[in-house]
Amino acid sequence: MKAIAVHPAARQTGFAAIPEPDLNSRTSIKIRILEVGVCATDREISRGVFGTPPDGYDFLVLGHESLGEIVEIGADVTVVQPGDLVVAMVRRPCGVDGCVPCAARRQDFCGTGVYAERGIQYLHGFMTEYVVEEESQVVKVPPALRDFAVLAEPLTVAEKALQQVEAVQSRLPWHSDRTALVLGAGPVGLLGAMALRVRGYRTAVFSREPVSDPKAGICAAAGIEYISAADVQDRAEVAKHLGNIDLVYEAAGSSSLAFDMLQYLGSNGVFVLAGAAGHGGAIPIDVDRLMWNMVLKNQVLLGTVNAGKPAFTAAIADLATFDQRFPQAVRRLISRRYAMTDHAQLLEGAAGGIKNVIEITS
Ligand SMILES: [Zn+2]
Ligand SMILES: [Zn+2]
Repeated sequence: MKAIAVHPAARQTGFAAIPEPDLNSRTSIKIRILEVGVCATDREISRGVFGTPPDGYDFLVLGHESLGEIVEIGADVTVVQPGDLVVAMVRRPCGVDGCVPCAARRQDFCGTGVYAERGIQYLHGFMTEYVVEEESQVVKVPPALRDFAVLAEPLTVAEKALQQVEAVQSRLPWHSDRTALVLGAGPVGLLGAMALRVRGYRTAVFSREPVSDPKAGICAAAGIEYISAADVQDRAEVAKHLGNIDLVYEAAGSSSLAFDMLQYLGSNGVFVLAGAAGHGGAIPIDVDRLMWNMVLKNQVLLGTVNAGKPAFTAAIADLATFDQRFPQAVRRLISRRYAMTDHAQLLEGAAGGIKNVIEITS
């Protein structure tokens, strides 16, 4: 069976051959992979920044943003059946004694860090023809979402964040006229902005692309404001324009932008960090001002990574809502579909666009 894999030792990415998997338990399902989204994580693994092959392999099959179709089910599978479309979750429990979140199947909050992740560490990913999964690790997708359900995984980042924001804000009687600022207009940022928009937030995306960029057009089509850093250099102006910012969703992975904008978070606001920043040099920040604000304005700074079943379920539901509210905007997030043989230009980053997808089978 054909797969796209990285050999970390050789720092090489290319085709690998792995055996076609069989059902391995009464609750397992066999999935034919239809398509896989490519993101910065895949490119970083390709470059050898991180990524660990499974035991016994010197390569790692890439891909964590999947959409597949069930072709076979075990005898005790109850929720899904052959022909169903599914998206598989990425992380599996660490199995370490005493890891309470993993024991409760909330491995997205794993405390040990030795969890396995499909296409990232210890488990092969989805850039291959078939995978076998436990039924509990997949979420069913309505057929109407076939064209863009591959966006579910990157959307789960925002879904998990928003579920936590909801829990945090249950601390106060929160007003309903809410304003959200999204930092970064990559797929995670744009999908997050859409999730905020359908929850009724006045939502603005702040990013470096000019207003002529297709990303700005997608925002407009979804009722989201777009503020270009090319037009507005003074970040205080962004805050002045929006008024009291109730929520910032940081999806740019820029620490200097994030901590600069933190000073403009409004009263009772939550600032969500979802983009992992590369380690650059130290930057000066006015911590006195930040601490003063955070205390006097009851603010919360919240980091979030990965997603569990509740976020995957919410992502599928939200994709259906996006399809009703702004069907063109959500489809335009997928820039292009590529054949498996084109993987190099995607993984080396030569291909532009917003979300690129590799078609495994059609
Ligand atoms: Zn990704
Ligand atoms: Zn764990």
